[in-house]
Amino acid sequence: MAQVSTKPHVALFASPGIGHLIPVLQLGERFVSRHNFVVTVFVVVTDAATAESQLKQQSSYKNLLNVVLLPPVDLTSLTNKPLAILSQLVLIVRQSLPDLRSAIASMKSRPTALIVDLFGTEAFAIADEFHMLKYEFFTTNAWFLALTLYAPHVDREHEDDHILRHMPLHIPGCASILYEDTVDVYTDRNDKLLHDDYVRIGRRLAEADGILINTWESLEPKTLQALRDPKAFGRFSQVRILPIGPLVSGFQSFGSSQPKDDILQWLDDQPTESVLYVSFGSGGTLSADQLTELAWGLEQSQHRFIWVVRPPQENSACGAYFEQAKRADGTPEYLPDGFVTRTQKLGLVVPMWAPQREILAHPSIGGFLSHCGWNSTLESLINGVPLIAWPLYAEQTMNATMLTDQLGIAARSRELMPNGVLGRHEIEKMVRTVMNKEDAKGETIRARSQDLKRTALLAVAEGGSSYAALSQFYDYGY
Ligand code: UDP
Repeated sequence: MAQVSTKPHVALFASPGIGHLIPVLQLGERFVSRHNFVVTVFVVVTDAATAESQLKQQSSYKNLLNVVLLPPVDLTSLTNKPLAILSQLVLIVRQSLPDLRSAIASMKSRPTALIVDLFGTEAFAIADEFHMLKYEFFTTNAWFLALTLYAPHVDREHEDDHILRHMPLHIPGCASILYEDTVDVYTDRNDKLLHDDYVRIGRRLAEADGILINTWESLEPKTLQALRDPKAFGRFSQVRILPIGPLVSGFQSFGSSQPKDDILQWLDDQPTESVLYVSFGSGGTLSADQLTELAWGLEQSQHRFIWVVRPPQENSACGAYFEQAKRADGTPEYLPDGFVTRTQKLGLVVPMWAPQREILAHPSIGGFLSHCGWNSTLESLINGVPLIAWPLYAEQTMNATMLTDQLGIAARSRELMPNGVLGRHEIEKMVRTVMNKEDAKGETIRARSQDLKRTALLAVAEGGSSYAALSQFYDYGY
């Protein structure tokens, strides 16, 4: 007689974008490798070929997880209006829900919990229908979670103060958000759809059985305390908060190739902590003027670098979002004349995509100029690599403020030129701060980065706070 598996079975639901897929796969791996769960990962895709090529390179999950690509959703068939990235993702995920429902309904051994990411909260209705526990995996930090849970409760007067009069937005028990750091929901008053989508997500999150969050107790003690405090967030949300991070898997990136990547071989030949890694995440893009200033800033700093470059985009800071993980050959034509030749002894220009996790773990890396996406931030932090914060979109401005003003592990400049571009001298200055061993400010940033690396490793080690939080998830019947 066939044996029925008694292992707990959970389903994870990943929204489109490699920045969402990576942490979800990492959580799945953790469930299987540490707790012997059975894990099915449902992936929403906009283009199956890209999704498959993204997954193909990721070797570690293969024998562990049951990955199901849902039928691709074509956004252009759903709307002809230009939408904010959050609204695009909400719409795409919504379109995938009937396929998710059928897939779950047809499973012989049905999972007992459904864990979704930020854009997947509408799938909670499916979890309810099949009597599954419903969990959120919040792949960024507690501060942004606090804002999201609070968004449905911000009254009109305070919202007007923030949006129209540019006053800080107060969040109960947490650091306020300065207008210059606010998220796009509050910069574009006319985008009612974006506002409503975001508020709805906040409302649904409060109804979850629990929220797993990719942070750890000692990184954000004040915010986590507020989220659990009956007098602060407890007034409108009793959801269980479980900080389980930093969840950063082994250093096997999407896009890495065997045998050893040329980039990593080049890094092997560079002195310890001498190279600045420059990358704007999976979808980040810069304008042509900004690309030119960045190229000059890097060149003038005379520090070694690896720069992941993408063609310029004038009207979007996330212009490569749906084309992630594409590799390109040849030298980009959009960099200043002669840049690649003049800097060939100093740096590497990598078109489109690089094996980031291996790069950041390499001892030759001394700094990371980053768009401050939360995965990139954690990958830097777990390696003790100090940052230059260059936020582009979504909650990245909040992350950048946290890294500079609250944690002290990043340099940042807000001194834009009249055309809204960060100039080469400012860029050169930031690079020197982080990379120059004699720079006093840089010294503090580097030391602080090492301190945080230690707290991160302690949190996830056996007996650490994040280890314990993940165990609570299991003990609770999850
Ligand atoms: N990434 C990579 N190579 C690249 C760019 C990005 O491996 O050239 C990976 C990076 O390691 C991270 C993810 O893509 O795990 C990006 O996630 P993040 O949250 O930093 O930013 P997002 O792309 O979601 O804005």
